[in-house]
Amino acid sequence: MERRVRVRFAPSPTGPLHIGGVRTALYNYIFAKKNGGDFLLRIEDTDQVREVDGAVEKIMQVIRAYGLDWDEGPDKGGPYAPYTQSERLDIYKKHAQQLIDTKKAYYCFCSKERLDQVRAEQISAKKPPMYDQFCRSLSQEEVQTKLTANSSYVIRLVVPNDEDVVFTDLIRGDITIHSTIVDDQVLMKSDGFPTYHLGVVIDDHLMNITHIMRGEEWISSTPKHILLYKAFGWPTPIYAHIPIFLNPDDKGKMSKRKGTVSAQSFLDSGYLPEAMLNFFMILGWSPHDQREIMTLEEYIQE
Ligand code: GLU
Repeated sequence: MERRVRVRFAPSPTGPLHIGGVRTALYNYIFAKKNGGDFLLRIEDTDQVREVDGAVEKIMQVIRAYGLDWDEGPDKGGPYAPYTQSERLDIYKKHAQQLIDTKKAYYCFCSKERLDQVRAEQISAKKPPMYDQFCRSLSQEEVQTKLTANSSYVIRLVVPNDEDVVFTDLIRGDITIHSTIVDDQVLMKSDGFPTYHLGVVIDDHLMNITHIMRGEEWISSTPKHILLYKAFGWPTPIYAHIPIFLNPDDKGKMSKRKGTVSAQSFLDSGYLPEAMLNFFMILGWSPHDQREIMTLEEYIQE
């Protein structure tokens, strides 16, 4: 039996929603509708330092203002609630422990000073700055002593030292990245919160997400996620990384410095949400009959 299509939009409340996020949400939304599936909203608020007060409410408001309401989400609930990551800390903890127990992850007690020094040495030796895996070889006893002494720690993934990490992207085709350039990434931070990488993989798996459609700035994170799926022994979802909006001069992601980028600001200037969506629809795609004006419903059918 084919799996029911389930997709998600997973913004972080670190500020106003970028207009590119509306397009990402639109693609996920139409894919769910076209396939009779589910569209989820998940709030990824694991970066407590960068979180902005009131951003969650504003993000939810603006996605709805663009007409892209979700089937499951923080305010609506659903079979996989809660849909806000800061309310799922126990789940991440349990899974991180599972990786420790199976030796797929390890405790790292390195101080910021040590990490800075390693980094500085690598940079001056013209090597890519990466964690030097120092704590990977600590003995059980050493680890236990430090834990008993309440030393601060993070949990890192054991990244295989010599392995091709391969995944297929629906847009880009096969992508191969060698594990030597993948860091022993932090999974759990010292504040007890998971990193984005751990949270996203656990939630996408537990929430039964079938397709991950997100901006292509996340491609470099995907090998880390693939390694995590492997470490858990879970099947990987299907990936599609979509091109992002660039600045007019083609220098990087469309940014505040070059003008308005918040999804709300376009509505505030009087652009109709339907017109904005229509603009996104025919950006990089067009129907065979060259129609230029479409409703969301027509777009879903096409
Ligand atoms: N929380 C990430 C963001 O802010 C989500 C990336 C993803 O879709 O995996 O965009």
